[in-house]
Amino acid sequence: MSKDLIYQKGIVMIIVLKENPNPAELNSLRDWLRSLNLEVHYSQGSSTTLMGLIGDTSQIDLDMMKSLPVVDKALRIQDPFKKASIKFKPEPSVVKVDGVSFGDGSLPIIAGPCSIENESILMDVASSVKSNGAHMLRGGAFKPRTSPYSFQGMREKGLELLIAAKKKVGMPIVSEITEVSQIDLFEEVDLIQVGARNMQNFELLKELSKSKKPVLLKRSPAATIEELLMSAEYILNGGNENIILCERGIKTFETSTKNTLDISAIPVIKSKSHLPVIVDPSHGTGKNNLVIPMAMAAVAAGADGLMIEVHSAPHTALCDGPQALVPDEFAALSKKISNLKEHL
Ligand code: PEP
Ligand code: MN
Repeated sequence: MSKDLIYQKGIVMIIVLKENPNPAELNSLRDWLRSLNLEVHYSQGSSTTLMGLIGDTSQIDLDMMKSLPVVDKALRIQDPFKKASIKFKPEPSVVKVDGVSFGDGSLPIIAGPCSIENESILMDVASSVKSNGAHMLRGGAFKPRTSPYSFQGMREKGLELLIAAKKKVGMPIVSEITEVSQIDLFEEVDLIQVGARNMQNFELLKELSKSKKPVLLKRSPAATIEELLMSAEYILNGGNENIILCERGIKTFETSTKNTLDISAIPVIKSKSHLPVIVDPSHGTGKNNLVIPMAMAAVAAGADGLMIEVHSAPHTALCDGPQALVPDEFAALSKKISNLKEHL
């Protein structure tokens, strides 16, 4: 099957058949594929027969296809995600969160503490980041922690403090949801964060797809870009198009940083999807001194925004102190980013 034929005809999956396939099994494969509304094309070589499929193959499980007795190999040419694909919607999506736009080149910055710890730190950080150029306030109330002995977040009380800070300081807010039953508590939260650990909590994604509330979907440290986009597909498929993706570092063999921030994920995602993508260099590096350089790198690579952890006294922070910027450092980051923006 020539490359031209594949692209001209729009073939989306190629199946290489085993030599001398059992005719009955082959016919039943062909009939099943046709029953899925797929066009089946054959290409007969001297020893190999290829089947080219045209149509929507997203419902076909590639591993199941490869396991069939008549199939030698199967190769997907079309991405398995549809609504998240740039082919489905070639122009970039702009997601608006209470007047803050992600994806239109304005490059908003979300800043705030890792977790909401008490009113005075939250208010302190909120007003200082606001006066230094942040567009949204972050703060975790439900904290997914590796250890059950670590601070688990202030939960409902924390959300109440964050909502109060939103009203007092006048910035939209983002906070992480960890399970479906919490949804009603997030009514006044402008952007609901699905954290890295819940990227494949499909029941949560399906529930969040039912409203138009914007969702910040963070990449799991163990997820491929395709898996991230498949998670976004769950939310899009249920009817919610307000999705912002977030690269926050992946697990590699490198130990000098908490995670390896995958800067190349930004242009890769943009080549595959219309969804805006922001970068979190705080979790991406785990180190305060690396946050500014990686934030700059992310913006230079085409990120649609940043999420930065800020704490007024990082050494006393109940979560992620080593990666937090103090307010003065955040002010320096904000200045550097706006200078860099001028040169893009
Ligand atoms: C966070 O943003 O507070 C957080 C827990 O991030 P992640 O899910 O990326 O680890
Ligand atoms: Mn954190």
